Amino acid sequence: MLVPLALRLVPPALPTPGEAAPAWRKLSLQGWGRLGRAPCQAARPERLRDLRAVVLADVGRNLVPHGAGRSYGDAALNGGGAAVLTTRLDRMLGFDATTGVLVAEPGVSFADIIRTFLPRGWLPPTPPGTAFATLGGAVAHDVHGKNQHLAGCFGHHVEWLDLMLADGSTRRLSPSEDAAAFHATLGGLGLTGVVTALALRLLPVPSNALLVRRQRIAGLDAFLEAFGAARQASWAVGWIDALAGGAALGRGILEVAEPAPQHLPPPPEAQRNLPFDAPGCLLNRFSVRAFNAAYWRRVPAAGDAQPMHYGRFLFPLDGIGQWNRLYGRRGFHQFQCVLPEAEAPRGLRLLLEAVGQAGAASFLAVLKWMGRDGAGLLSFARPGFTLALDIPARAGAGALLRRLERLTLDHGGRVYLAKDSTLSPAGMAAMYPRLAEFQAIRARLDPGGRFSSDMSRRLGLG
Ligand SMILES: Cc1cc2nc3c(=O)[nH]c(=O)nc-3n(C[C@H](O)[C@H](O)[C@H](O)COP(=O)(O)OP(=O)(O)OC[C@H]3O[C@@H](n4cnc5c(N)ncnc54)[C@H](O)[C@@H]3O)c2cc1C
Repeated sequence: MLVPLALRLVPPALPTPGEAAPAWRKLSLQGWGRLGRAPCQAARPERLRDLRAVVLADVGRNLVPHGAGRSYGDAALNGGGAAVLTTRLDRMLGFDATTGVLVAEPGVSFADIIRTFLPRGWLPPTPPGTAFATLGGAVAHDVHGKNQHLAGCFGHHVEWLDLMLADGSTRRLSPSEDAAAFHATLGGLGLTGVVTALALRLLPVPSNALLVRRQRIAGLDAFLEAFGAARQASWAVGWIDALAGGAALGRGILEVAEPAPQHLPPPPEAQRNLPFDAPGCLLNRFSVRAFNAAYWRRVPAAGDAQPMHYGRFLFPLDGIGQWNRLYGRRGFHQFQCVLPEAEAPRGLRLLLEAVGQAGAASFLAVLKWMGRDGAGLLSFARPGFTLALDIPARAGAGALLRRLERLTLDHGGRVYLAKDSTLSPAGMAAMYPRLAEFQAIRARLDPGGRFSSDMSRRLGLG
């Protein structure tokens, strides 16, 4: 039975005469990589009828939904157009304690859910590496967590979602109600409409803690083998020293975790913010090499095991607010790709060698194993290994990213659009075989092209 937590959804209504429409103001939005600013007109509606007024407004040539801005590149940017900021649409609308189904608005974040539901024994099903991401953003990239190999992606846990279309109407979509539009919206980059609510199955957990086992891994082949042995682990993630070369190429730390019985105090919520942009010279191959090596040695040679609050394990970077300023004013790219398992040993080696040769000072790279295709037409996930690397925006970064795209294509892989800022339209078409299907559904849902973004124009998505 669905217990209301706050106000129930009401059918959207047009603003009545005399009622204040949400205010628009000029904003310069940035992706998490801080690669450039996208000036736009932005509105931050608080209620569904305000959202409808925003969608119907004659402001900006087109509109992009914008959640917490945790996409690294230009997926949530719309330079010269309009953006609808969804963070005030953040009500939890109902929760069924027998099934664990939460109904919530799109601006609710993973942190909000964890704060409210982890003490009651529930966790968001596929938490990405930051708890600040919103549910709307999670739908639009069909995000995955450190449990993708077993749990799949976010969309696999969505029972239904409500989508506001360009004409202001709202449609309920699910695997049985306009399934085509449902699967186009999961991973659909906010290009089919604005998600206004969704029903999400939470994951039952026995406590707020995990038992995390860490082990040093000597090199890439050993890493892939160790992941093979950890297939049944509930959670698994690898940290790679992306600057180690030669015999140590691909060395790192594997962390696997299982639910633990004990309860631990949650990590402090107040963040320490990085107060300034780090000078560009701070992160060079010497300082990053030293940091990565120290990180590797932090785990004893025999490995260790310790109980850890979910928050610490799942969101290790969230403790430092605005850590993205570490890369200095010019910002950074994040490159993430997934390669099919058979191609991974050779492909990952070539990718890491390319980064090493370019001297791109990437902090710890992240390696995960994926076990399932994603739930949407443009979902990133597919079975195989996924590698994520930070690349500072300096001379040579563009050439390196083109090389990484080529290597990914040559090994049958694809690039993750939540992180991307440089993929080519040809690369997109080759990596995402269901693109034409997506475009046809998008044309049906939004024939006038009201929803658009810097990314959709860069990649020629329609
Ligand atoms: C430190 C860090 C770690 C991360 N780790 C992971 C990870 O492990 N796995 C993973 O999958 N991702 C990961 N990400 C990426 C992140 O989960 C996604 O980019 C996510 O989409 C961010 O959500 P957001 O609310 O910030 O959305 P935004 O970045 O604001 O927007 C992302 C997309 O969602 C669309 N959108 C937002 N709200 C709505 C809405 N209401 N309706 C329709 N479309 C909407 C936007 O148009 C845009 O296309 C990580 C990001 C960071 C910064």
